[in-house]
Amino acid sequence: MNSKIVSLLNEQINKEFYSAYLYLDMAIYYEQLDLDGYANYYTIQAQEERDHALLFMKYMQSNGLKVTLEAIGKPDKEFSSVLGPLEIAAEHERYVTSLIHNIYREAQADGDYRTMKFLGWFVDEQMEEEESADKMISQYRLFGQDPRGLYLLNQEYAGRVYTAPSLTL
Ligand code: MG
Repeated sequence: MNSKIVSLLNEQINKEFYSAYLYLDMAIYYEQLDLDGYANYYTIQAQEERDHALLFMKYMQSNGLKVTLEAIGKPDKEFSSVLGPLEIAAEHERYVTSLIHNIYREAQADGDYRTMKFLGWFVDEQMEEEESADKMISQYRLFGQDPRGLYLLNQEYAGRVYTAPSLTL
């Protein structure tokens, strides 16, 4: 495999773990506000990001490539309102989409059909991630400023349950 693609795949493992860290930090913020439903939502989101990291790891290993784990960055975003993390999450998912698309572009340029197929799942996944993140913002804007509305939203997010990724390697 093209060495540039190998290093981008390896970097993506780190980026996905950073995403997990960022979402855990959001869960901690909401827990401090006693919004345990929002905290639950982002704890599960962190689990999903860890799953993504493991999928990239497994894909590299299945192709006989050596995985190198690097230090995970400290989550350094400041949260100052219920809405804050929601907006940061949406922005972050758009950034992750750009990373996935960048690797896809390299794979396409190299005629690396196997990596393109692997990344196809993540291309779809990112569409869902952006949609979910945007929906949380619009739901908050519609209902969240009213205390009873926020109570119900928090209850809704308390109901999110973890599901393993549909992609298996
Ligand atoms: Mg991810």
